[in-house]
Amino acid sequence: MSQSFDVVVIGAGAAGLAAGARLRAAGVAVAVVEAAERVGGRAHTDVAAFGVPWDKGCHWLHSASVNPFRIAADELGLGYYQRGNRQTRATHLGDRWADAAERQAVWEAIDGAFAAVKHAGEQGRDIAASEVLDTASPWLRMSRHWLALMSATEAERVSTLDYVAYSDTAENYPVEKGYGALVLAVAARAAPDLEVTLGCPVERLDWSGPGVALDTPKGRLSARYAVVAVPTTAIARGRLRFAPDLPPDLAEAFEALPLGSAEKVAFQFDRDVFGVPPVTYVDTIDLRDPSRIPVNFTLNPFGHAMAIAQLGGANAERLVGEGPAAMVDFALAALVDAYGADIRARVLRTATTGWVADPLIGGAYSCALPGKAHMRARLAQVVGDKVFFAGEAVSPHYYSTAHGAHETGLAAADAVLARLARHAA
Ligand SMILES: Cc1cc2nc3c(=O)[nH]c(=O)nc-3n(C[C@H](O)[C@H](O)[C@H](O)COP(=O)(O)OP(=O)(O)OC[C@H]3O[C@@H](n4cnc5c(N)ncnc54)[C@H](O)[C@@H]3O)c2cc1C
Repeated sequence: MSQSFDVVVIGAGAAGLAAGARLRAAGVAVAVVEAAERVGGRAHTDVAAFGVPWDKGCHWLHSASVNPFRIAADELGLGYYQRGNRQTRATHLGDRWADAAERQAVWEAIDGAFAAVKHAGEQGRDIAASEVLDTASPWLRMSRHWLALMSATEAERVSTLDYVAYSDTAENYPVEKGYGALVLAVAARAAPDLEVTLGCPVERLDWSGPGVALDTPKGRLSARYAVVAVPTTAIARGRLRFAPDLPPDLAEAFEALPLGSAEKVAFQFDRDVFGVPPVTYVDTIDLRDPSRIPVNFTLNPFGHAMAIAQLGGANAERLVGEGPAAMVDFALAALVDAYGADIRARVLRTATTGWVADPLIGGAYSCALPGKAHMRARLAQVVGDKVFFAGEAVSPHYYSTAHGAHETGLAAADAVLARLARHAA
């Protein structure tokens, strides 16, 4: 493969697909190259494991009322679930269910932790979230766990100033046929003839000449512009190199916004073992054993006899390192505490994720390190007036989300289209 295009888009996740589809729909000669053997990146609905869809990556339409994927889901007739807020979640304490007062106390502690982190950020303080947590709270473990789910990393590595920049309407709607499938459907609707070259990692992007030249195992591609829509980790770890090197302030920003860990363990049972309504959320924390890390579950998602466990932060990373069996054991132990040992025999199949160990992704979503929040804005800078960056980390207010990634892809495509129009004029 040695070809020339107007634009090459690197990476076919939510951002790259949005950019590629918009450029293709505008009639631009665009190539989209993807290192993996599938499109979607962290938007990945798997059907093979259970015969029904489950999202290995993004699952909730965050900020649903303003989320373009929610609007698209309505237009495409794809269902999502609108009920439930955090306070309706049941909490299991290791050997019994929390009563109403305890549930209230848990939520006050978690909300208090979020409020403290936000307060520090609103004051312009760029410090570690851990510095403002109430370490005397009996529910500290739970607050830290929720913070780890939101930021995919431990409170010591969460910038309070970055955290407060995130915009959230507190509407989180899971997508019935899968958010990953929705991301693909939206791109296919925008540009049904968009082609993506799979198994094609870009190893080096040369921007020294009048355009860009990209080295891949399938040959060299050249183009006038590049949209780089890969995870921050791919650049920080040098899997995609630039020649000349990126400007130092930009290179530093990719290092300052690493992807943390958020992982899932999915169970399929041979019957409904929980006796709860579809999409029931349950949190667990073992008060008997302070060394156990809390874990959250979605039970009976969309009426399927399943449970999906959400793990975050250092615990998620450690368990991925130990392997799928350790992940399953960890999550199943909490389910057994809550629903009894009999459910072990009812497990038909399990599946686990391993985003943090995926060499092409390297984690879950970006979070600025303490003291580095200002560096997120640098990711939107254009290099040499021809290399544009997109992806969840580039989004100033919807970072770490699929719709944030999508919007940055559209913005990069629009910026390229404006330049192409200027040339044509
Ligand atoms: C467990 C988990 C749960 C999540 N839950 C939610 C949620 O509920 N709601 C939500 O909105 N978001 C959620 N997210 C985050 C969301 O999935 C991501 O923010 C979003 O999908 C990122 O899209 P992206 O295009 O920026 O990057 P990616 O999806 O990572 O796409 C980048 C692509 O670049 C490719 N690539 C990497 N290197 C190269 C290279 N050198 N050459 C070519 N291609 C390359 C990768 O293979 C990948 O396909 C979750 C993520 C995870 C992991």
